[in-house]
Amino acid sequence: MAGIDRRIENRRMIEEYLKSLGADMAGFASAQSYNHIFSITEGSEHPDYYIKGAKTLIVIGVKIADSIMDNLTGTKDPHSHNLKNYLLHYAYDKLDEIAASASKYIEGSGYDAYPIQARSEIRENGYLWSYFSHKKAAIAAGLGHAGKSSIIITKKFGTRVRLTTIITDMDMEADEPADKTPGKVCGNCRICIDACPVNALEFDEAGKKTLIDPVKCQTYMDYCQCALCQGLCPIGRRIAQKRRNLLINRGECFKI
Ligand code: SF4
Ligand code: SF4
Repeated sequence: MAGIDRRIENRRMIEEYLKSLGADMAGFASAQSYNHIFSITEGSEHPDYYIKGAKTLIVIGVKIADSIMDNLTGTKDPHSHNLKNYLLHYAYDKLDEIAASASKYIEGSGYDAYPIQARSEIRENGYLWSYFSHKKAAIAAGLGHAGKSSIIITKKFGTRVRLTTIITDMDMEADEPADKTPGKVCGNCRICIDACPVNALEFDEAGKKTLIDPVKCQTYMDYCQCALCQGLCPIGRRIAQKRRNLLINRGECFKI
């Protein structure tokens, strides 16, 4: 019983701290269940690669401004230019700062914590890959499901987030993992797939598998910060509209 209370207390303490740093969402996965869900036994996706005996993955999200996501056109225009700067200098930097500060905070409690960089993609010889998938960690932490585009659709903000992960040997109460099958919350929608300007996306409905051409996508992203598959996702749009309606109903949109 005392052990369970400690795990709950650890989580509460970290959640509060993350909130104070400006995190918009956080989920907690047990390292054991993450490894089991994705059959990870070794390598840079394994939590032990960062901290021997790692117990918890803390997945942190910051929300992307709805007005930026709503206005994306998938072409080189001021909106894509804004998104590029916004992601680089707000979202990724902020996530890295939050993860670094929270890791130091965890270290202060006597545990180890490893903040993984938010922008984990690496391109080598035209091939795009990453050492660690924040998306997998987010699914294990129950933050959301993968859409047909492979982007995580979170319960709180739809696709309109960026994520990072801290790995720690601090034991914490974990969330219920989400189903890892992509497209589970998409129904018959295929807006992201049909909208992609370079046909980089396909979804195998029978095999429930996203087929993405990362080089096509990244080459186009180098030309303009496209992100159309994220901006057009109706789930994110619905959540944004609900937020606006709530504020309008409360009259809060007129507050200074
Ligand atoms: S897959 Fe890439 S190129 Fe296609 S819509 Fe998404 S961000 Fe744009
Ligand atoms: S646009 Fe449609 S198909 Fe694509 S992730 Fe969103 S809900 Fe799923």
